[in-house]
Amino acid sequence: MIKSRIFSGQKYAVLGLARSGLATVEALYQSGAEILAWDNRQEAREAGSKWATIEDILSADLTGYSAIIVSPGVPLNNHPITEKSTQSGVPIIGDIELFAMARPSLPTHRVIGITGTNGKSTTTALLHHIIQCSAFPSRMGGNIGLPIMSQEPLPAGGIYVLELSSYQIDLTRSLSCDVAALINLSPDHLDRYSGYMDYIGSKERLFAMQSPQAFSVFGNGDKDTMDVYNRVLAHRGPQQVILADSSGIDGQKNWPSLQGPHNMQNVAIAVSICKALGFTDHQCISALASFKGLEHRLERVAEIEGVLYVNDSKATNPESTAPALAAYNNIHWIVGGLPKSDTLEICIPNFGNVKKAYTIGEAGAQFAHELSEHMDVENSELLTNAVMRASAAALPGDVVLLSPACASFDQFRDYEARGDCFKMAVENIMTSDKHVAVRGSDG
Ligand code: ADP
Repeated sequence: MIKSRIFSGQKYAVLGLARSGLATVEALYQSGAEILAWDNRQEAREAGSKWATIEDILSADLTGYSAIIVSPGVPLNNHPITEKSTQSGVPIIGDIELFAMARPSLPTHRVIGITGTNGKSTTTALLHHIIQCSAFPSRMGGNIGLPIMSQEPLPAGGIYVLELSSYQIDLTRSLSCDVAALINLSPDHLDRYSGYMDYIGSKERLFAMQSPQAFSVFGNGDKDTMDVYNRVLAHRGPQQVILADSSGIDGQKNWPSLQGPHNMQNVAIAVSICKALGFTDHQCISALASFKGLEHRLERVAEIEGVLYVNDSKATNPESTAPALAAYNNIHWIVGGLPKSDTLEICIPNFGNVKKAYTIGEAGAQFAHELSEHMDVENSELLTNAVMRASAAALPGDVVLLSPACASFDQFRDYEARGDCFKMAVENIMTSDKHVAVRGSDG
């Protein structure tokens, strides 16, 4: 756990006691702070009561408090905590800012911050993997689901790799990343921002917090990211600002868990970061083949009678589905859910790789209508139906791909539950047909 004397004797209010909130109260408690905490859920309050006084922060007297620490899930744009902070004069921050504050208490280290609309988790895990293969101590944390405050501190020379969502950056004021990277940008999470420019501005703040000798890395795949690159370049100068270009990187066919053009972008970002850290080309490239990938991101589930089943449930918008369609040929594409955009237009250039589409969920009828102009399509409504229908139609060499381009909440708790449902349906095909399958093969 990350502890610091800087928190000792201070008072903090913590709103939200899910994973990162609990890690925060424990780390603050172990550092000698006094904590008031709240969550709407009774079980969460019980869990937090081990380290904190439980009281509704909105009605508490916050005189003498140093900060209100909120979970990134709390929508600051319309939550009363924002008004409470203004009234009481106590700033709102997040756990990443606490980590930034604790840094002087840690052995010498470097921090990498990775943001972007898509590819953050993959790039974070990949970079962590490359660093570990190069025998440097490394920890990953942040949005990847590993609260940074619960990680063990690294020995001197270690590298912390942080995945940062825009919400987390919004709650951070002083995180000076030794290398910060922006992979790409497209409209997302607009319910939390006053507009797309506001969302871009949130990501851009990561670079404004850097010190003059730090490095900034940018993907070159979209205009909005290039605009941020140009602004940061003008401000920080060409020595410190790197445009990640995949054109000089060969060998993708040898990296089974890094297929598709999007993963080339992620590789280019990770390699550029490594170079900024002083790693050699060989150290970076030699680690790519052994990267195992993450669950629910182009995850190879099974191969049954020559048909490959791939779970890309994490593709919750058309921008992240487009590259999945580019990664394979002869695709039986399962698509749909709770739509985030009205159209799959951005996927059109890769429609030639799709043999047939099976639409599901709330977007099913609308997507079936849109896709019928381009390909054979049926509205299967339910994911399990779609898997059965696709499996019945698929021939050896074909790929059954769940890449929904939509949020999952119309039919599932979250994208993980949707991906698990897909894997279960594939498992059922395996057992019912007594096919021979290669589970977990990275092939
Ligand atoms: P994030 O953490 O930003 O949500 P993930 O690495 O979890 O990103 O990937 C989310 C989805 O986006 C997956 O479906 C994945 O296939 C797709 N994806 C990954 N990298 C990229 C990229 N560079 N550009 C577009 N889509 C991507």
